[in-house]
Amino acid sequence: MIDPWGSAKLEYQDLIENFGVRPFSEVLDEVPEPSWLMRRGIIFGHRDYERIISAMKKGEDFAVVTGMMPSGRMHIGHKMIVDQLRWYDRMGAEIFIPIADMEAYSARGVDFEDSRRIAIEEYIAGYIALGLDLEKDNIHVYLQSENLMVEDLAYVLAGKVNFNELRAIYGFTGSTSMAHMYAPIIQVSDILHPQLDELGGPRPVIVPVGPDQDPHIRLTRDIAARFRDRYGFILPSSTYHRFMGGLTGGKMSSSRPKSAIFLSDTPEEAEAKIRNAKTGGRETLKEQRELGGVPEECIIYETLLYHMSGSDSRLEEIYESCRNGTLMCGECKNNTAEFIRKFFEELSVKREKALPAARRILEG
Ligand code: SF4
Repeated sequence: MIDPWGSAKLEYQDLIENFGVRPFSEVLDEVPEPSWLMRRGIIFGHRDYERIISAMKKGEDFAVVTGMMPSGRMHIGHKMIVDQLRWYDRMGAEIFIPIADMEAYSARGVDFEDSRRIAIEEYIAGYIALGLDLEKDNIHVYLQSENLMVEDLAYVLAGKVNFNELRAIYGFTGSTSMAHMYAPIIQVSDILHPQLDELGGPRPVIVPVGPDQDPHIRLTRDIAARFRDRYGFILPSSTYHRFMGGLTGGKMSSSRPKSAIFLSDTPEEAEAKIRNAKTGGRETLKEQRELGGVPEECIIYETLLYHMSGSDSRLEEIYESCRNGTLMCGECKNNTAEFIRKFFEELSVKREKALPAARRILEG
C-alpha cells in the first residue's frame, strides 16, 4: 500500500504497544479542524486527548503547556511546537510557555543570565517570527526561576516523591546534584499549576511532547493523582510527535550544526543545507526512473512533510511522482531549496522585528 504518511505512522510503535499511549488516528476524526501535523501522522499518539476534544467542541476552558529549554540554538525542528501552539491558540486554549532556566542551570550548567538572553534572542524572538503572538492575554511566557506559584507548588509536590522513583525514571545516582534532582519536579509543577484555584481551578491540560518525554508525562500524571484530593487535579493529557530527521541522517540536533537548519541561519545558509541534504534517490537517473525514489528515507520529502502547510494534495503528488520515478531528485531539491530560501528571507526580517517584543515579554 502506498501511503504518503506511512513512515510517520509506523515509528514509535513501542510507546503504543507497551506504554499505554493510544494511536492518534483513533481520535483524529473527532478533532475539529485537525492541523496538518495531525492529518499527516506527525502527531502519532496521545493520552486522554478525548478530554481536549470535548473541551474544544463545547467551547470550555482548557490549557496547553509546553516549555522551551534556553540552551543552544533554535532549529527548524522546533518550529513544529510553534505550529501546534498557533493551532491551539486558534482553538481557544490558554497557553503556558515555561522557560526552563532552572533545568538549564541544573542539567546543563547554563547561567541564569545566559538563559534569559538565549530565551529572548533565540526562542521568544523565533516563536514570534513564526507567527505566535506572545503578547496576547491568553498566552503566558515565564522564567521558571521567577514564577513563585510554580516554585511553591513544586515544593509541595516534592513532598510525595522520593529518590528511588526519580532514580528509576531519570537514572539519577548518588553524585547527581540536588538541583538536578529537583528540576523534574519543577517541570511537573509547570504542567499542573494552570489547574490551581488562583488560575481558575481544575481543567483539562494538554502537553505536546516528543516520545522521549513520556516518562516525564507518566510521572506528572502519577503525582497529579497523588494530589487529586488536595487540588482536584484532572490528569493532564498529552500528544506525541515524531522528530524531524537530521539533514545528514540521524537526529536533528543543535549540538551537530550540520544536521540542522537554525532559525538564525541566513537564507543562503538554509538553502545550501537543503541542497546538501541526504535524499532517498537512487544511484543513477536510470534507476530512479525504473524503481522510483524512497521518500520515506528522504530529508527533502520530510522537510516538505513538516513544513509545507496547507493542503495535503500537493504533497501527495510529490510522493506519488517520486515513488513512480517521474520526479528526479535534482528538480525536487531545487524546488524545496527555493521554498526554504524564501521562507528564511521572510523569517530573518520577522526575527529582527520581533526582538523588541521578545525583550518586553521577559523584561517588561
Ligand atoms: Fe526525495 Fe524528491 Fe528525490 Fe523523492 S524525488 S527521493 S522526495 S528528493
